[in-house]
Amino acid sequence: MPEEKEKKSKYSALAEKLTYKNESIWLSLSHAEEKQFENLASEYIDFIGKCKTERETVLYFTEKARLLGFSDITTFKGKVSPGDSFYWNFRDKNLALVKIGDDFTFTKGLNIVAGHADSPRLDLKQNPLYEDTEIAFLKTHYYGGIKKYQWLNIPLSLHGVVVLENGKKINLNIGENESDPVFVISDLLPHLSHKIQGDKKIGEAVSGENLVVIVGSRPVKDNSIKEKVKLAVLEHLYNNYGIKEEDFISSEIQIVPALKPREVGFDRAIIGAYGHDDRVCSYLAANSLLSGESVKKTSVALIMDKEEIGSVGSTGTDSLFLHHLYTMIGSLFENNGQVSLGAIRQAFLNSSCISSDVAAAINPPYKQVHDIQNAAKLGYGVAITKYTGSGGKSNANDADAEMVGRIRNLLNSHKIPWQYAMLGKVDEGGGGTIAKFVAYYGINTIDAGVPVVGMHSPYELISKADLWATSRFYNTFFAEFN
Ligand code: MN
Ligand code: MN
Repeated sequence: MPEEKEKKSKYSALAEKLTYKNESIWLSLSHAEEKQFENLASEYIDFIGKCKTERETVLYFTEKARLLGFSDITTFKGKVSPGDSFYWNFRDKNLALVKIGDDFTFTKGLNIVAGHADSPRLDLKQNPLYEDTEIAFLKTHYYGGIKKYQWLNIPLSLHGVVVLENGKKINLNIGENESDPVFVISDLLPHLSHKIQGDKKIGEAVSGENLVVIVGSRPVKDNSIKEKVKLAVLEHLYNNYGIKEEDFISSEIQIVPALKPREVGFDRAIIGAYGHDDRVCSYLAANSLLSGESVKKTSVALIMDKEEIGSVGSTGTDSLFLHHLYTMIGSLFENNGQVSLGAIRQAFLNSSCISSDVAAAINPPYKQVHDIQNAAKLGYGVAITKYTGSGGKSNANDADAEMVGRIRNLLNSHKIPWQYAMLGKVDEGGGGTIAKFVAYYGINTIDAGVPVVGMHSPYELISKADLWATSRFYNTFFAEFN
């Protein structure tokens, strides 16, 4: 029946033309592309295993920028030309990498890709050390949105800085080398836990005050001392680092999983690691800017801090950090080093920013929390998110349709695999990124980043394919977005 046949092919052509489709990156990969992203994946695995805190991340990229000849923007004096590059390390917690664009006009605005390097973790309390039943512990205060039970009975490491009484700063990193000891928060055995934990909701079964880390059990051999194990720990800290108990008060010490990043699955398509959120996007943003490519518009890769607790404080995005940065960049373009407020305002209003943060990918056993046709999937490319927030879009940035349109056009014209993503079903929960704080300045801002399964857990999962797609997107954004 030829008529029937014709009808069918007409509609299949129509469906082809009209329907929004996205497919797994893996189905259309060339051999060369697979090789490309295996290289990227192994470089990333090296990085994410080394940098487990915001300070370590910022120092890693500051060092890299210096080696590549980037100048310190706070001390630079001289004439600036297109292609010149600068960095601003702010208190070892924020990093801005800046490359001067070929158009060489500050008021045309900046192209920014901005991630954050802080991840959910356990901070030590300021007076943390105590002994109970001949075991020494450090008390913690969780930072960011964690599920407390996930932090029990896994090897933990200790990272951070301690400022001694004489002002000297001691860097600590214990638990990452094979020869280092690790630390553990021990859970209650199942045989005895049904009354204390068994009948409780999962979020209440482990209290924040019980997140205490075992750090010693070998006493000093002196019966005249009351807390022999605690003193032995203090002796160890003093002998090895010069740290006394009061020094903890002027410290920032983070307890993080002592887990190495690994390839996951028979096919090694997934990377498991602590802190993909959001060091993966920070890594890709910084590396895109550090690559030797020239940029049309002056471009900035930003690594921000304190995102996980609401972008607060002087190193969070809800601060004047961006204003200070724009003033510094604007000053580079002026012979007398003085940039006008009017020029800064124009630059803000003509800028665009990718808020490069991770998206929640579907975890199949729990897919009911997502609206599937608006949810990110592993292996489907960089996740574009118009709005985050919760409830009736509360606290969202909600990028303009025009901005989404321009980004979509850039992605499609470069055949970069992408997908649309929102954070769960309506009223299922929610969350935010730095997007709304960047948008506050009048900067056209949209969220786009790598999808993650098991976000905020001690061992998050991402797809190598998405890592590669997101890297391509940030590179293309810097090179071409106008
Ligand atoms: Mn994040
Ligand atoms: Mn997060």
